[in-house]
Amino acid sequence: MSSKQVAMVIDLNKCIGCQTCTVACKTQWTSGEGQEGMWWNTVATAPGKGTPKNWENMGGGFRNGKAQPGKLPKQTEFGDPWEFNFEEALFSGDQHATLGPVGEEPDWGTNWDEDIGAGEYPNSYFFYIPRICNHCTKPACMEACPRGAIFKRDEDGIVLINEDHCRGFRFCQEACPYKEIYYNTVSGTAQKCIFCLPRVEEGVATACSRQCPGRVRFLGFLDDKDGPIYKLVHEHKVALPLHPEYETQPNVFYIPPLAPPSFDDEGNPVDDKRIPIDYLISLFGPEVRQSIEKIKAEREKRKRGEPSELMDVLISRNWLDMFGPFTNQPQDVAKTLEERARG
Ligand code: SF4
Ligand code: SF4
Repeated sequence: MSSKQVAMVIDLNKCIGCQTCTVACKTQWTSGEGQEGMWWNTVATAPGKGTPKNWENMGGGFRNGKAQPGKLPKQTEFGDPWEFNFEEALFSGDQHATLGPVGEEPDWGTNWDEDIGAGEYPNSYFFYIPRICNHCTKPACMEACPRGAIFKRDEDGIVLINEDHCRGFRFCQEACPYKEIYYNTVSGTAQKCIFCLPRVEEGVATACSRQCPGRVRFLGFLDDKDGPIYKLVHEHKVALPLHPEYETQPNVFYIPPLAPPSFDDEGNPVDDKRIPIDYLISLFGPEVRQSIEKIKAEREKRKRGEPSELMDVLISRNWLDMFGPFTNQPQDVAKTLEERARG
């Protein structure tokens, strides 16, 4: 347990599945050698198989405090990076050249089952679920590492891998129930989301949060009573961890998705239970019922013109209010760092 804990709340009612966060993370952190198939941030369609494929059935984590066996995900389950025919298609002048992908026909990739979801038309449903490492309070990855290469920082609870100590045994990959650890075949080490440590240390929000056009991601410390995280997780109790049954105590929380009404054969709205509650319970635990009821009740209050602190936080009119203490502008910090370096 660390003295302080950074956390994120992701509002699933606002995510549009645009993958801006995914690209922001990719360009910031995983464009190096051996990282081609690495996505520290993913946004999958739910219900769906996710990344890696069927990760929810791969085990790991704890049960009644005891570590559980987990499966080592294969690279093909994350999705092999595709090769494209850029040279020929873009620069050869051959108008018939196609971009690809070239080589063997892929049969799986990250986000492969995008927008498929579940249910029968007109009552089909899906939503997007962004995921990063949860920087768990009880990290299964850390407990599984025989080298002590994984550690949790006391000052902010960020879980990191010391690659100088890592020998690539990959026990952490098996143990993490969220399958949020990747293996770099070039360096021979495990790598994962670092919660944008160099940014948050300078008071700048994570790249996935700042770049999000949907104002989906809130940031802050769990115990900061004036911040959005405390309000959503502890005060209003509407933000819930994903798969709490793995007992790692994740520090990424989700506002569960509401849904449009279901329709009868004549196209009349009949109820508001389009997303089966049992499915949501399987993701977020039984507390999801109260969370959804509370959000709906507050929404109704707002419709009647009454004040609602919860709705004000969720709507996030002022973008920077979403980021707790991480409101510094990257360009200002870059300037300060340059000045510091020049002495
Ligand atoms: S999500 Fe997985 S990799 Fe991240 S801290 Fe938890 S157990 Fe470790
Ligand atoms: S950038 Fe925001 S809206 Fe777009 S996929 Fe990511 S979390 Fe969702």
